[in-house]
Amino acid sequence: MNIHEYQAKEILREFGAPVTNGVVIFQPEEIKSKIKNLVSDKVVLKAQIHAGGRGKAGGVKLVNKNECLKETTKMFGKILVTHQTGPEGKEVKTVYIQEAYDIDKEFYLSCLVDRESSKIAFISSTEGGVDIEAVAKDNPEKISTNKINLKKELHETEIDNIIKIFQLSENQKKEAKKIIIAIYNILIKKDASLVEINPLVITKQKKLICLDAKMNFDSNALFRRPEILALRDLNEEEPAEIQASKHNLAYIKLNGSIGCMVNGAGLAMATMDIIKLYGQEPANFLDVGGGASKEQVAAAFKLILSDKKVKGILINIFGGIMRCDVLAQGVVEAAKETNIKVPLVVRLAGTNFEEGKKILEKSGLKILSASDLNDAAKKIVDVIK
Ligand code: ADP
Ligand code: MG
Repeated sequence: MNIHEYQAKEILREFGAPVTNGVVIFQPEEIKSKIKNLVSDKVVLKAQIHAGGRGKAGGVKLVNKNECLKETTKMFGKILVTHQTGPEGKEVKTVYIQEAYDIDKEFYLSCLVDRESSKIAFISSTEGGVDIEAVAKDNPEKISTNKINLKKELHETEIDNIIKIFQLSENQKKEAKKIIIAIYNILIKKDASLVEINPLVITKQKKLICLDAKMNFDSNALFRRPEILALRDLNEEEPAEIQASKHNLAYIKLNGSIGCMVNGAGLAMATMDIIKLYGQEPANFLDVGGGASKEQVAAAFKLILSDKKVKGILINIFGGIMRCDVLAQGVVEAAKETNIKVPLVVRLAGTNFEEGKKILEKSGLKILSASDLNDAAKKIVDVIK
């Protein structure tokens, strides 16, 4: 789960890291009373959306304090398109107004769970304010990666290694250590999987400050972090994905035109791969799980159809715990309810697949039956052409 910059900065502050002074605005009417809390003459308006790259898309704006009302009002309702939002962009519903800082240097700093090494990785770079992926590609020597074993506290030498690349003064080192300890503690005490400060800046007054902050939390740990779950902003999430989580379905919306309903994450990945192999793109990832009920299958079916880009659906079920007859009943009910217009290809194998096939045949629905995964992919790609 992602959170907004202003929320991430609250958490950083709580853990002892220096952050920008700012006020969060949900409606333009709040500006007059809240802006008094900021002391600088210039302020920076920052659109709060769950995506980076706001600067280039017009979501970060330096203005005089007296233009703040006018400019913030303009920013509300704007659709920002950044490299992380997808082409449809994201609407600005919240603006964070910060004091403007005179920046001397911009660094990059992050702390994340590194699955490959089963360690915690700190990434630091002197190239801040830009995409770290671009730095990794063009100037890999400007990135320092330090991987450490999970433990209660970091060693002094580990902290020194992480911040070495910044070449700080003694005073700045003390501040940097506080920031390193803060982000490490957020990772292990709040179940964050990523804490990213980009940029971490040195101001003209030689002070270190977190100018931007991004955090991602492990969704599977949210049950024990109600204070983090409370920061969830449903406006920022795909409506279909919210609906899916209500029904305990693992659904991720993609951009293609073939809807997929599969049981098991591995089989779902294989199904998406084979659709691509035949020259089409999947509209979604969907794992209905091992023991899905008729209701869950129906909900999954409606989810797929709620995507207007879907031109055909491929159902690929290998019944182990999941029974093919239960799946078939769910499909038939949902198909009738939603008055389905797009072609449907079904491949059933495993437990009760014969009963399942009979139910589908008797339903009167136009369904193309497939013998195996290859056949299924070929049929759905052909039929939508
Ligand atoms: P994003 O990463 O989404 O583009 P940032 O918060 O990193 O947004 O802002 C982009 C750039 O805008 C920063 O790299 C910095 O140069 C400038 N900036 C952001 N906030 C401030 C601020 N409070 N004072 C001065 N400059 C800022
Ligand atoms: Mg940034």
